[in-house]
Amino acid sequence: MDTTERSGMGTSKGYPKKRLNVNQKSVVAKKPWYLKGVVIIVAILIIALVAVFFLFGKGLLANFNSDSSSEKTSIFQLSLPSDGESFRLNGANEQTIMIRSHYIEEGTSAGLDGVTVTGFVDTEVAGDYVLTYELGREKLTRTVRVVDDRQMVMNLNGTQATMVRQGQPYVESGCNVICKTDGNLKTAVEVSGTVDTAVPGEYQVLYKAVNSQGVICAKKRTVSVVPDNEFVANTEGVPVLMYHYVYSEADEPFDKADKNNWIKNSAFEEHLKHLTESNYYFPSYQELSAYVKGEIDLPEKSAVLTFDDGQEGFLKLGIPLLEQYKVPATSFIVGVDSDASEKISTYASEYVTFQSHSFDMHRAGGNVGHGGVISALREEEIVEDLLKAKEVVHNGEAFAYPFGDNTETAHQAVLKADILCSFTTQYGKVQKGADCSHLPRVRVVGNLDVAGFRGSL
Ligand SMILES: [Zn+2]
Repeated sequence: MDTTERSGMGTSKGYPKKRLNVNQKSVVAKKPWYLKGVVIIVAILIIALVAVFFLFGKGLLANFNSDSSSEKTSIFQLSLPSDGESFRLNGANEQTIMIRSHYIEEGTSAGLDGVTVTGFVDTEVAGDYVLTYELGREKLTRTVRVVDDRQMVMNLNGTQATMVRQGQPYVESGCNVICKTDGNLKTAVEVSGTVDTAVPGEYQVLYKAVNSQGVICAKKRTVSVVPDNEFVANTEGVPVLMYHYVYSEADEPFDKADKNNWIKNSAFEEHLKHLTESNYYFPSYQELSAYVKGEIDLPEKSAVLTFDDGQEGFLKLGIPLLEQYKVPATSFIVGVDSDASEKISTYASEYVTFQSHSFDMHRAGGNVGHGGVISALREEEIVEDLLKAKEVVHNGEAFAYPFGDNTETAHQAVLKADILCSFTTQYGKVQKGADCSHLPRVRVVGNLDVAGFRGSL
């Protein structure tokens, strides 16, 4: 419709216009010859001025605006000198990161908007990855080496997918970084990210550690702030499951006197299957302690897994299963054992936190409960032992009383040693308002089947 109308108008006006041009031509012909040249020069000058304004005017605008949008940034970047000096990589050109580490892209001096990045880093597979950054005619490359030599192992305390009830505080549970050359780097970890617990949604907290060799290990915690009316809170108490030893079909402990403390790897796997299929939440000790104090709620289905004594079967058979099912657990280590530090280094896992089972109190000598020596020691002797054990395991969030024996003096000692949660072997779930200096546990007896296990939760 529009087109027809326009073409119609064109033809109707076309003829008179042509005639007018002819008339003008005859008028111009009577003017001096040089006027035509002046008109052309003026027109060229106007066009040139407009072009100059468009090119430089816009560029200036972008330069002055520091909070530039991506469009403005790209205009600014185009005005960078072509010698390449201003376009460089943020962070090292060659980086080494641990396998399953989170790769942190630090970008370039010109940001990332408008820069074409090609290549990828597969943090699940060891190897060298080359990233190329192109901006105009500039080209930079970065090599990211993903290594799988276990020189650094980072484990986030609690669950990687952390849950917070809207309006309640976010409890920062931290992490451990067990490094073969530098020990536990947990205090040197850079933690970044913000969580606004007033606003439901997903937040991220990033943990980054660099060892003395410059190797990077980083992990990301996802924090879900759940709307208050959707959060199903635990009211029945949290079972802290107490396991001891793990064995396999090929390695049945027939000669062991106390079979109650032994679980077959296949039975343990059934437990893990049940926990993950039922979406259990595994709080950190920081979260458990805040729950006990009434500062936070925990999800209805919450549980903590603990293994006493740092037994080889648990280390060799139990840990791979925890990794397979991505379930975090604690290994309570006896500090005086000659291989304690070696165990921590060798079996460091993204799903295991090593905590104290005392330095040298896992022995007889007392007259309370099972006769552990703790009841025969003075408060300061217990504190001294606990502090020594903390140095070996590099942690002080949890402590398991040897044989479960505990006294009023021992309760005071664990508080003085600044241990968040101390566990006995007394049966019970951890309730709000309990005393963190002696919390009960739920013993997993022998090869408890899934039905029995479900009943114990
Ligand atoms: Zn023990």
